[in-house]
Amino acid sequence: MISIKGVQKWFGNHHALVDINLDVHAGEVVVILGPSGSGKSTLCRTINRLETIDDGTIEIDGVPLPDESAPLARLRSEVGMVFQQFNLFAHMSVLENVMLGPVQVQGRKPAEARDQAMELLVRVGVGSQADKRPSQLSGGQQQRVAIARALAMNPKVMLFDEPTSALDPEMIKEVLDVIVELTKGGMTMVVVTHEMRFAQTAADRIIFMSEGRIVEENTPDAFFSDCDTDRAREFLSKVL
Ligand code: ATP
Ligand code: MG
Repeated sequence: MISIKGVQKWFGNHHALVDINLDVHAGEVVVILGPSGSGKSTLCRTINRLETIDDGTIEIDGVPLPDESAPLARLRSEVGMVFQQFNLFAHMSVLENVMLGPVQVQGRKPAEARDQAMELLVRVGVGSQADKRPSQLSGGQQQRVAIARALAMNPKVMLFDEPTSALDPEMIKEVLDVIVELTKGGMTMVVVTHEMRFAQTAADRIIFMSEGRIVEENTPDAFFSDCDTDRAREFLSKVL
């Protein structure tokens, strides 16, 4: 579903992604772990072309990412992304936030988009908040709205970049529970997280990054019990 080959990314003279090769299969849940600055966000951001790449190729469902000049709306519909900061539109209601993409980008009928948005809000457990402004919701509720908003585009792939890092501890679980539900529904997902228990239970595969490289790929069980590399061992000794 996602095919990444030989990807290189430089920020000035900083080599942020070094020869990245990664295939994520349909329905697979890949969790990316690694120390701060290792390139996890940069990798996510290249997958939906928030960042350009300097070399290599990225394909989504067999279709190469469009180059810089091409319209990105279609790609962005296929790849949903949820960030640490929820990035909801403050001047719109929760429901309007979720309807916006389908209506404005995909040209869907407002009535139909509204029905689907309401369904999604109920599914992530915030149906009763539909008419409020985002600022009237807790952080956990806002992040669940952000997930509903991404799902409203019917993406083929969902990317999560530290979706719970900005949340108070008691709200982390309610957001992770929604993400776990999505994994059961067969969604193809790439999740950057520092939640090790989530990584261990929800991932099909762990990717460990260090200094812009993928230095280890493993099953969650093997990674957490007996990882292959010293670099991953050192990381785990700090976070577990
Ligand atoms: P964290 O766990 O702290 O979120 P990360 O693994 O997501 O870290 P990235 O944000 O991908 O790390 O950053 C990788 C490297 O690239 C870092 O050294 C960072 O400073 C650098 N970098 C990221 N974005 C930019 C940018 N827009 N301009 C210049 N350097 C950047
Ligand atoms: Mg990051």
